[in-house]
Amino acid sequence: MGKEVIIVVDMLKGFLEKGYPLYCGGDARAIIPNVVSLLKDKKDAEIIYVCDNHAEDDKEFKMFPRHCVKGSVESEIIEELKPFKGRVIPKTRYSGFYNTNLESILKEIAPEKVIVAGVCTDICIMHTVADLRNRDYNVEVPASCVASFDNDNHRFALKHIEKVLGAKIV
Ligand SMILES: [Zn+2]
Repeated sequence: MGKEVIIVVDMLKGFLEKGYPLYCGGDARAIIPNVVSLLKDKKDAEIIYVCDNHAEDDKEFKMFPRHCVKGSVESEIIEELKPFKGRVIPKTRYSGFYNTNLESILKEIAPEKVIVAGVCTDICIMHTVADLRNRDYNVEVPASCVASFDNDNHRFALKHIEKVLGAKIV
């Protein structure tokens, strides 16, 4: 079987731990054990963490409260995922491709399949999957490993990811 890549999106303290301005809530916390199982099961897969990492004055803060600033606790990957080593790619926008080296890393690995997990289904997951599909990667999204603070948007995004973007929901 060909190489698999797992892209783990924004599994950061700022989104998954209570008390931060963009805490995504219980639905997001509920995926943590599922993501852990996924990473445990797929021992041969290459893990790429794509992580929000903003400058102090990022223009995104005109839309959202200040969050996941470079060097802050919020911008750290949650402790539960620490045992799973992977590359870490900082990003500043929804898509993991925007102003990052994700494109060249994937070209180098040439994966047969890219699995995408993390938060939020309707924001960074959806936009990263769209950019993967624009590059013709075979993409799989385990429904139990993605979540959003907005459940209606979560469900819309899963449908869109499957029917419009052509990724497989498993
Ligand atoms: Zn952000």
